[in-house]
Amino acid sequence: MFSINRRTFIKLSALTGAAALATRFTRRPALAEPLIERPPEGVITDKYVATSCLNCATRCATRVRVTNGMAVKIAGNPLSQVSEGENCPRAHIGLQVLYDPDRLEGPMKRTNTAKGKGIDPKWTPISWGQALTEITDRLQALRAGGNPHKLVLFQGLNTISDEDVIRRFAAAYGTPNLISAEGLENEADMASEWLADGNFTQSAYDLANTNYILAFGANIVESQKPLARNLRMWGKMRRERPNRVKVVVVDPRYSITAAKADQWLPINPGTDAALAMAIAYVIITEKLYDADFVEKYTTGLDAYRQVVIESYRPEKVAPITGISAETIYKIAREFAATKPAIAWRGRGATGWPNGAYTGYAIFCLNALVGSIDVPGGVTYQINPEYKAMPALAEDDTAKKGKSQQRLDLGHTADFPAAETVTNQAADSIIAGRPYPAEIAIGFNSNFNMTAPATARWEEAMKKLPFYVHIAPSVSEMAEYADIVMPSPTFLEEWGYDHSPPGSGFAEVKLKQPAVAKLHDTMGIIDIIFELAGRLGGSITQSFAGMGRTAEEFVRFRTENLMNWQKWLDDGVWVNKSYKYYKYDSIFKTPSRKFEFRSGNLEARLKELGKSADEQAYLPHYEKADFFGDEKQYPLVLTTYHPVLKIESDVQNYPWAQEIYLAMHARGWGNFVEINKETAHELHIKDLDEVWVESPFGKLRAKARIFAGVHPHVVSIAMGQGHTAAGRWAKGIGINPNEITGVAYDRTSGQSAFYNTRVRVYRA
Ligand code: SF4
Repeated sequence: MFSINRRTFIKLSALTGAAALATRFTRRPALAEPLIERPPEGVITDKYVATSCLNCATRCATRVRVTNGMAVKIAGNPLSQVSEGENCPRAHIGLQVLYDPDRLEGPMKRTNTAKGKGIDPKWTPISWGQALTEITDRLQALRAGGNPHKLVLFQGLNTISDEDVIRRFAAAYGTPNLISAEGLENEADMASEWLADGNFTQSAYDLANTNYILAFGANIVESQKPLARNLRMWGKMRRERPNRVKVVVVDPRYSITAAKADQWLPINPGTDAALAMAIAYVIITEKLYDADFVEKYTTGLDAYRQVVIESYRPEKVAPITGISAETIYKIAREFAATKPAIAWRGRGATGWPNGAYTGYAIFCLNALVGSIDVPGGVTYQINPEYKAMPALAEDDTAKKGKSQQRLDLGHTADFPAAETVTNQAADSIIAGRPYPAEIAIGFNSNFNMTAPATARWEEAMKKLPFYVHIAPSVSEMAEYADIVMPSPTFLEEWGYDHSPPGSGFAEVKLKQPAVAKLHDTMGIIDIIFELAGRLGGSITQSFAGMGRTAEEFVRFRTENLMNWQKWLDDGVWVNKSYKYYKYDSIFKTPSRKFEFRSGNLEARLKELGKSADEQAYLPHYEKADFFGDEKQYPLVLTTYHPVLKIESDVQNYPWAQEIYLAMHARGWGNFVEINKETAHELHIKDLDEVWVESPFGKLRAKARIFAGVHPHVVSIAMGQGHTAAGRWAKGIGINPNEITGVAYDRTSGQSAFYNTRVRVYRA
């Protein structure tokens, strides 16, 4: 069984770190030009502008220092209660997002009819008028032919106000095909909560009051949202409180969170559900659960108890998980005894086939110990109530279009709890089933980089007859655009934001331009208002009465919360009051209780005319199906999001590149991270060039011999390997999504990221 103590790890890290510093990645480019020009000589004007960050979905409040019209510093906003005036190491990269010399500078049209990876689109500049007219004409023709559902909208990371407007446009136009990136990131997590309590959402965790965290695949201080809050709370939990909160991390990789925790459990990949069920076994059989909570507010305990006792005795689970029975008993007893405690389900645990059941198994631990909607437990995110938009005006064409089946097969028996099955959209577009897509518009999307098996997206994008890309920068998906419409960066535009998985309490951040627009760009809200105005009829009506520009729309939506001048000055509205113990309203299940046996799934399957055996309604572990024969491909490829991966998936930022792998003190690339014993068997030394090969292809990179990787695992940081990005991202590192297979969590439709086997050998 694999084990490592902290002292051995630190020693090994120091050795490998020293070797690393001696040799750097060869691809490190020179910084040829200054990123920010010096302010002109003369009078200095200096001010702070309250706005918000969009380098990840936490969407923190920030204050931008503007000197002589140029943004020179980004700091936290002290009025924010979510981040308590702090932000994360990615926030200041916003300056390089703004001053990126490779940004798109004006609308352009493709002149090369050939499309494909690496093929020059031969874009030529056009006016905004021409771009909008051409798009409007095509949208009008599609609708006139009764085919609004053949419009597909791809959505990457956007401001909440942009998302609200995009969703309304889809509804008014009449397409069900709003394909967001959630199906690559969060849907299994959300579905696992829905199975238990009926809320299709991610949990909030009350870090300010907890005493114990058991984190399954949750990289809390590196990539887990809300990151800036997690970092601030981590300092409080571990240093500023008289009782230091204990943290145990379950992860096949020694993440930064594991490095800072009290205990790391290097679990066999894909077996978190078995561990969670074994912990439940100890809590149930030793009667350590919160009998009062379970009795009053839960149902299904008998069925759950039966499956737990029959199949998940720690001695039986130990060889599956690689975690000893002794450790399982110890952790279970600690978790039940230290109140309040949190069992946190992260993407590393749920990004698998059956990921929703894994999340369900982990979530149930919170119910067993009564950590549901209590101080220091799992809480329920309160979203702010913006001023309502006027009623949607729908014509018959819109109604008919929206009644069509979604291209991604969401809401069907294939994926009973899915909202968006992002990756399935590529296969449907390629096959032209259930109908061909005619027009697509991408809003900051880059699925050609971020979805497993990227080659399918290349094929899908080639097949689209007409594609419009809206984003500030060029990317792999933009390369297929027939028309490119550059949008401003988040430091140049209007919007409002909140954090979907957040602090529990509601907080809204105003996004206002810190500086004047640098280029000939148009924001997403303004583009959609313009298109809606040109399309006429019920679409135009659907956007009436809430302002004519982005600024007016933002003002309209937020005026019920605070007056405009205060918005401009403060930038943050907070409602910190959070009421715990809402047991009469939070459980949206048939029993109106927390369900250890999912009545919601039973009802949904009935609705869809599908039957299932009893196990389907209960949390359980199933051995994951892997791509690749174990003998031929003996290692499991896992990936992770390092803290400096910018979530716009552009990464053309030298500051982020310079310290990209903070754990390894290295930048400008990524490694194939291999355990030292495994590397020894394969005759691979630190920094050797290696091939990592799956049944779907192979990639070449440097090896990093790392004591913190499970011996059966190879780990690669995501975010590198761009093929169509700016000068500081293109051709740097590798993208593991190029060699992963396509699989889904069968409940939520989320893509599985970690079930591809590989072999590694010297290049
Ligand atoms: S947590 Fe996300 S939104 Fe907040 S400062 Fe960091 S990158 Fe920006």
